[in-house]
Amino acid sequence: MSERTVAAISTPYGEGGIAVIRISGDDAITIADKCFVSFSGKKLASLGGYSALYGKVFSNGIEIDDAVALVFLAPKSFTGENTVEISVHGGKIVARDALRAVLDCGAQLAENGEFTKRAFLNGKLDLASAESIMEIISAKNENALKISRAAKNGRVSKEIDKIISDLLELAASFSAYADYPDEEIEGLNFDNFSRLLSDIETKINRLLDNYDMGKVVRNGIDCCIVGKPNVGKSTLMNLLCGSDRSIVTEIAGTTRDVIESTVNFDGLTLNLSDTAGIHDTDDIVEKAGVERTLDRLSTAQLVLAVFDLSRPFDDDDIDLINSLGQNAVIILNKNDLEAIADIKIFENKKTVSISAKESIGTKELFCAINDIVKTDKLSPDDAVLISERQRDCAKRAFDSISEAKNALEIGMTLDAIGVCVDDCLSALLELTGKRVTNEVTDEVFRRFCVGK
Ligand code: GDP
Repeated sequence: MSERTVAAISTPYGEGGIAVIRISGDDAITIADKCFVSFSGKKLASLGGYSALYGKVFSNGIEIDDAVALVFLAPKSFTGENTVEISVHGGKIVARDALRAVLDCGAQLAENGEFTKRAFLNGKLDLASAESIMEIISAKNENALKISRAAKNGRVSKEIDKIISDLLELAASFSAYADYPDEEIEGLNFDNFSRLLSDIETKINRLLDNYDMGKVVRNGIDCCIVGKPNVGKSTLMNLLCGSDRSIVTEIAGTTRDVIESTVNFDGLTLNLSDTAGIHDTDDIVEKAGVERTLDRLSTAQLVLAVFDLSRPFDDDDIDLINSLGQNAVIILNKNDLEAIADIKIFENKKTVSISAKESIGTKELFCAINDIVKTDKLSPDDAVLISERQRDCAKRAFDSISEAKNALEIGMTLDAIGVCVDDCLSALLELTGKRVTNEVTDEVFRRFCVGK
């Protein structure tokens, strides 16, 4: 347990119903008793865990606010330490003054993520679960929340622990084989070792795949709307946003810069950009806009390419079609008007016919987007790695186990293969934080906000 007793405001900065000042450490209760006076005259030190008193917070004898002080006794608290949570009225000044009162009475200001770090150091949660708390706080959509909640409840750690137990079993088999090389012991043979290594490799690979899909669910997918001027890009943007985010006019070239907005649908977050219409132009400003569009087109994870059905296609349309990759949804817009365009040029390509103006075909459009994004393969109950650090550990584990498999196949000694198995084990123990350096731990919690 740390010697410092720390405090911070654990609620968001701003106006709200209540603000909570959290104090954690050996002296949390003594410190709180110095600045909090209950109406009943009782001291917080006289309470059992999970008990509360109603009273006032004072700073050097000056009343700050009415407050409720809630006591948690170690180890039955979030951090595993003695903890007091003082709730005052939510307001920037009240919360700041109440925190100052607590600091004046002997607490030190908590660092970023210090409460969660203490919970980790006191064995209340492992590193993978601790990281998921940050993701729960910043979840942008329902599915991201479900994934993060499953990770917080130990889904990732359980999966890793299963793989670790497979690795330990394998290492034990290697030792038994080395000790009794001439005996026929069931299961101790090349085929079985090879199968076990493959199973482990598959399990780790699945985790890596899930990470990529989970990243899309959590961060949203970068999606740009492209097409010639006047095909209906801004109208589509506004339809998806459910508001007039982009200016819609009949004048070509209205959108000259990239306009961004984030929308949620079907548990998926789209980071949308409406771009300047792609066409040949001598206008310097338009040219710059088109260059930005092409830039977005090359980096977007999803492209919504819009074409106008009510006019014949021209060279600009053909150029756009030829530049599209597998990540594009071809949208034939203005299907409420008479179709003039010759859609034969889209032969063998999947298209979606819509009217952005009249909101026709949106369901088909969402299905087409889902087909490309493919996050529906991810179940919220799956073990999903949720940080670059976790992915890096899993990747190292994967590389080591693949190396072990190759080493077995080319007939290297079990000792050499055992080294690779050990490396895999170390990487996975680092992932859950069972064997991790202080530097890594510090780095993880530095990304947290103060008060968490
Ligand atoms: P952008 O230049 O590609 O962004 O095109 P806009 O969204 O500004 O639309 C250009 C014009 O086409 C506007 O007058 C829109 O009202 C019109 N428009 C856009 N979508 C549709 C549609 O689905 N049907 C019809 N009839 N008009 C549309």
